[in-house]
Amino acid sequence: MIKLVFATNNKHKLDEIKNLIGNDFKILSLKEINCLEDIPETKNTLEGNASLKAFYIYNKYKINCFADDTGLEIDALNGRPGVYSARYAGDEHDFEKNMNKVLKELQGITNRKARFRTVVSLIINGKETLFEGIVNGNMLYEKKGEKGFGYDPIFQPKGYKRSFAEMSLDEKNKISHRGKAIRKLVEYLKKLK
Ligand code: IMP
Repeated sequence: MIKLVFATNNKHKLDEIKNLIGNDFKILSLKEINCLEDIPETKNTLEGNASLKAFYIYNKYKINCFADDTGLEIDALNGRPGVYSARYAGDEHDFEKNMNKVLKELQGITNRKARFRTVVSLIINGKETLFEGIVNGNMLYEKKGEKGFGYDPIFQPKGYKRSFAEMSLDEKNKISHRGKAIRKLVEYLKKLK
């Protein structure tokens, strides 16, 4: 069985990815390889940060791995919060504060178009491959739903009448940015088996 470290400490993401990847691959979290440090995210693109995180783990632990970086890109805000989505309202990475800041900045703005974009960097034996997943949608005017995480309560994917936070994990994974990027990753890995 192929063993891969997923360079994240985010439990929601781990659950999402284990659900998508199935039983063909053993996914290890950072905790499981005893990596308890904060991996730097100092680049100003999603590609740069995904790559930085994956190479950090690969170079330090010499184990095949992948990392993702996701941003919410809002047209009316010139693509913000984008690569700064996690810490948009401050370094404490507070989902509520981040959503409140976005809703405030969008007050009175009718162009609500936005997308989530995920970039995954996979490193196998030192060689990197990048995968991208995008879901288009609209920013809501207020929070709706309790599920998910991050900006889920204020993002409604195109063609749906519910926010991501009103969808089950399975339903979200079928259409989400990360779902799309990870399915591309899985297709690629299956060919390596
Ligand atoms: P990360 O850098 O990939 O962890 O993602 C940055 C930030 O984007 C997270 O802290 C969340 O605020 C937001 N985010 C990432 N993925 C999702 C998602 O699936 N739904 C809602 N927000 C997300």
